[in-house]
Amino acid sequence: MTLNDDELDRYARHIVLPQVGGIGQQRLKATRVAIVGAGGIGAAVIPALTGAGIGHLTIIDGDRVELSNLQRQPIYNSGQVGMAKARLASHFAMARNPHVGLTSIDERIDSANAADLLAGHDLVIDGTDNFATRLAVSDTCVALGLPLLSAAAQQFQGQVALFRALPCYRCFVGNAFDADDCDTCAELGVLGALTATVGSFAALLAIRFITGIGNDPAGTLHLFDGLTLSWRQLRISSDPACRACGQLLKEPSGSPS
Ligand SMILES: [Zn+2]
Repeated sequence: MTLNDDELDRYARHIVLPQVGGIGQQRLKATRVAIVGAGGIGAAVIPALTGAGIGHLTIIDGDRVELSNLQRQPIYNSGQVGMAKARLASHFAMARNPHVGLTSIDERIDSANAADLLAGHDLVIDGTDNFATRLAVSDTCVALGLPLLSAAAQQFQGQVALFRALPCYRCFVGNAFDADDCDTCAELGVLGALTATVGSFAALLAIRFITGIGNDPAGTLHLFDGLTLSWRQLRISSDPACRACGQLLKEPSGSPS
């Protein structure tokens, strides 16, 4: 995985960092990331990962741009209301960095299609805003053995966590929300700038994870409070009864995780 002159110039501020360097930049280029949801979180994650030189991004979103999205989704503009988000986000990314391979999927992800859509990626980032979708994505990631970076924002609160099963997202939220496909953001509101903060933090976590910077972040929930302007961290425990990842606890050590 080599970098050409354009890439060496484009990523110069990364490559000069001892923690990234040429090796880290090549790791970013070798990575395939699926981004589920090109809404508020996705609109921050997509530019950050595109600029960072991720090798391939798959953008999955079945929604069209609505006027009320523009308050927090700066990759879209007023003339694009009514157009498919996945394709627009992909065009935005293509124009930003031609070295990034892109696939846009104009479909809502669910438990029936998630395995087909997510297989073959190295990392899944979920920025959708309803529990049913998030649980379907998480269960699929556990089944496929894919790391899942989950990010959410509503009102003034943000949360970001990387899951690699044991615990998984279902260990964290339980089973009560499988039928809950309401879009909480629409019901409760969200400060526009908050989604950018949380989405950028998710992108930072993704890049650290891919390049191997810092501690393994899996299983730590990062919570941001936009009213007190504070971050705090909580460890999430594995639930032995979790119906997605619980059986992994019972398998003998040395089995695939
Ligand atoms: Zn679990």
